[in-house]
Amino acid sequence: MKLSHWAVAACAALALAGCKERAAEGGIDADRLAAAAADSANWITYGRDYAEQRYSPLDQISTETVGELGLVWFADLDTARGQEGTPLVFDGTIYITTGWSKVKAYDGATGEPLWQYDPEVPGEIAPKACCDVVNRGMAAWGDRLYLGTLDGRLVALDRNSGEEVWSKLTVDPDKPYTITGAPRVIDGKVIIGNSGAEFGVRGYITAYDAEDGEELWRFFTVPGAPDEDDPEPEYLAKARGTWNGEFWEHGGGGTVWDAMAYDPELDLLYIGTGNGSPWNQAYRSPGGGDNLYLSSIVAIRPDSGEYVWHYQTTPADTWDFTATQHIMLADLTIDGRERKVLMQAPKNGFFYVLDRATGELISADNYVPQNWTSGIDMATGRPIVNPQARYDRTGQPFIGTPGAGGGHSWHPMAFHPGEGLVYIPAIEAAFPYFPEAAWKPDPNRGMNTGLDLSAGAMPADPAAREAAIAATKGALIAWDPVTQQERWRVPHAGPWNGGLLATGGGLVFQGTGQGQFAAYSAAEGRQLWSFAAGTGIIAPPVTYTVNGEQYVAVLAGYGGVWPLSPSGLLSGQERPLPNLGRLLVFKLGGTATLPAVSASERPLDPPPFRGTDAQVASGSYNFGRYCSQCHNDAAVGSTVLPDLRRSAALENRDTWMAIVHDGALKDNGMVSFAPSLSRDEIEAIRQYVIKRANEDKALETRASSRGGAPPGA
Ligand code: CA
Repeated sequence: MKLSHWAVAACAALALAGCKERAAEGGIDADRLAAAAADSANWITYGRDYAEQRYSPLDQISTETVGELGLVWFADLDTARGQEGTPLVFDGTIYITTGWSKVKAYDGATGEPLWQYDPEVPGEIAPKACCDVVNRGMAAWGDRLYLGTLDGRLVALDRNSGEEVWSKLTVDPDKPYTITGAPRVIDGKVIIGNSGAEFGVRGYITAYDAEDGEELWRFFTVPGAPDEDDPEPEYLAKARGTWNGEFWEHGGGGTVWDAMAYDPELDLLYIGTGNGSPWNQAYRSPGGGDNLYLSSIVAIRPDSGEYVWHYQTTPADTWDFTATQHIMLADLTIDGRERKVLMQAPKNGFFYVLDRATGELISADNYVPQNWTSGIDMATGRPIVNPQARYDRTGQPFIGTPGAGGGHSWHPMAFHPGEGLVYIPAIEAAFPYFPEAAWKPDPNRGMNTGLDLSAGAMPADPAAREAAIAATKGALIAWDPVTQQERWRVPHAGPWNGGLLATGGGLVFQGTGQGQFAAYSAAEGRQLWSFAAGTGIIAPPVTYTVNGEQYVAVLAGYGGVWPLSPSGLLSGQERPLPNLGRLLVFKLGGTATLPAVSASERPLDPPPFRGTDAQVASGSYNFGRYCSQCHNDAAVGSTVLPDLRRSAALENRDTWMAIVHDGALKDNGMVSFAPSLSRDEIEAIRQYVIKRANEDKALETRASSRGGAPPGA
């Protein structure tokens, strides 16, 4: 590999002995990936190593020294959408992905920008993404980086220049597929999945040749139409018997939108699969059935894409209980036996420990409160489901805990081998599942869940809303996977916080949705240090060294499903934090400071409500199905996207129609909803939002005349 211009410059500037050799060794190969856990200077794969432990042995920043940790540099990003990315670091350069699938490279020590790459994702892709226009990271092989873009491309970039080497469309662009997850590379094969099960797609992963992007194999997680796969692989033929009706019409679901892990010794790739399309099983697979391989962990041969084993965490899913959550591998001593295990805390609230050679369930226990089962039957490995939880069969609403947000979402966990603990960024939140009696799929727009998302939305009534928000919490939980018990926890006011990093310095790092970035002792959960980031953090931190000095880096920027949909606010919080996209980098003795920011918000000043009850009913229903995915339940604005109650477009029917019907703002992601909604229905949504804005304005006026802020405003 030739030394790039920036590496030459860095070597010259630092006058480093051995710098040339380090840069020359930059190429990533199978041996280097297999040994990534011990490569303390770098962070060369998404979960830091193939076991995805997110544990760094670095110990310069430790329980003893962390008090001296300070910001050393920061970089402002050109998007204020959710930042969920895990940076990669090689030889002193940090590579990040941001909202809208952009990539940027910086000098890891100084923050000097080196290059950037923008795949120019069309704004109108945004409504195909259930959960914000986020990207979680890249893979590396040789001298290249591999990126999945929101519109479904897999792109190879030259690591030194940021130039695009090749690009491959991995999805049918006429279907609602997106990519937000990071690829992984195994022996020169780039593996990438996708998202879209909220709208109606068939899940799969594909392997591409890292060299030229040639497709090598594709593994579907659910069967297709009867004649779609010729010949149909045996594992899919077996799965077909667990489905009913013309399930393929809705895609089936089972998207592999996040977790993967790899065991080089067993040569097994592990993937986690998502929920069904639609959620409500009564519509997806009338009469039931396990619906393999939804909500499952599946082991695959990475060379051929051959199925090896699976474990289904949630048979017959009807709750959006994905098993796409972080898959982590470790070797643990259980009952006196050394076990090669796979661990996962999927959305359904149970922490699973499996034998990763065979898929045998070793243990399972709930890591958050749950009410959908009376436990896991260890003889069969199946949950014992409470009948009332099956709203799809009773036809009655069910308030589920955890809910569709899960006990844990995509936010990465971390493992500390010395403590033997897994750290879980947990969510404690219920979800009201209101089955929709006469659901019809919409092939154009909006969530295809088979639920009435308006009936189950966060209430508009401020007191009820405040109570619902107050009941929604988060925690950093230290979990002992051997005894299946909580060791300690740090409670968080809100559910949507940062992913995790554990280090040899005895620390666990985590940001919060409330804008704090903190270090805790890995043993006891004592907070030892914190930094006010001024904006919400959901991404996981990484750590690396440059010239022998340890750095900790994290992306800041609130977003993802929570602030967009159920609530951007926390209990008692009057206004959301301003949303910024930023890369923050810390080291011992760092003295940089962040500029002050102020939130600017349009006043709540809606036109008078002159609509009808019928318009409000129609507008409320369609707001739940088509708008709340991005503009928040009950039209209560989020931090991230425009607060429609404050929109100038409310004033004028023609302006509203130009945006919602004609797609005037499609480049920003606000597409035309004309394929799904008539002009009358779109006008009814305007009347509903005007009514909601007037209700909240009246509360604001009353509260200010009392000299206080309204609850949850
Ligand atoms: Ca989902």
